[in-house]
Amino acid sequence: MPKHLFAIFGNPVSHSKSPLMHNFAFKGLGIDGCYTRYLLEDGEKLKEKFFALGLKGINITVPHKEHAYRACDELDPFAQKVGAVNTIVEKNGKLYGYNTDAPGFLRAISEFRGVKNVLFLGAGGTAQSTSMILREAGYDVTILNRSAGRLVRFQEKGFETYTFENFQPQKFDLVINMTSAGLKDDALPCPGEILDTVIPSAKACIDVIYGKETPFLKVAKAYGKPTKDGADMLLYQGVIAFEYFTDHAYGFEKILPHMQKAFLL
Ligand code: NDP
Repeated sequence: MPKHLFAIFGNPVSHSKSPLMHNFAFKGLGIDGCYTRYLLEDGEKLKEKFFALGLKGINITVPHKEHAYRACDELDPFAQKVGAVNTIVEKNGKLYGYNTDAPGFLRAISEFRGVKNVLFLGAGGTAQSTSMILREAGYDVTILNRSAGRLVRFQEKGFETYTFENFQPQKFDLVINMTSAGLKDDALPCPGEILDTVIPSAKACIDVIYGKETPFLKVAKAYGKPTKDGADMLLYQGVIAFEYFTDHAYGFEKILPHMQKAFLL
């Protein structure tokens, strides 16, 4: 494979682990590739910048996943369905778009066995793509969000949805924080009283935030529940993106141990 340049586009982007993950994989697999980061301020310029920088592929993070979706010439059917692209590969001058966040998340939660009913706290972009893939994989997903506005698109797709005010406590196997509550503050994703009704009967609790123990995970641990943060989701979306970057020359299990090194530093 000739030398190819890859990048992550986002704003902010300085905190991203993706360059480390992908460069470990290039090095470990003996591929002459290089992955960098690019602060993209104007999402409308994504395509122009992609070609100006001479890139072969990119990952896209907040807040440009919808811009990335619109910039592609060809979309993978799942990316098309969810309206968000986090991986783009250039082939013969055309941009091909994929969503690897959702399959990465599905893989990350599949270690929990015997799970059917899942409660999502949050209704943002991540909840949108992951709810679709979970439903396709046979899970029942219920969405609970702080405000009603973002619930409309879930209702249109037939999901059961609640706000804090009209929530009906039920038994859920997994409770998942899909909000940014706890990322830069000490907020819980929903009132503590709601957590006290759903966590005790859950098999496990998951947070998509990584790199810290959020207030949500602290409550789950206080109830003695198994927990998991968002690190595996991040790792697995990266491995799946790398499969696309290298045109599936390497399988998931071959790439994984190299990328894992980024989390040992
Ligand atoms: P969005 O901005 O699209 O959505 C944010 C959601 O969080 C909304 O539902 C919003 O509710 C809710 N929310 C925000 N603050 C609070 C609060 N204080 N209390 C209750 N609800 C709150 O975000 P994304 O979907 O893009 O990202 C969500 C999280 O997922 C982020 O923390 C992000 O870091 C993480 N993530 C992790 C990944 C990984 O690989 N591990 C990959 C992608 C994302 P409302 O509608 O009421 O505003």
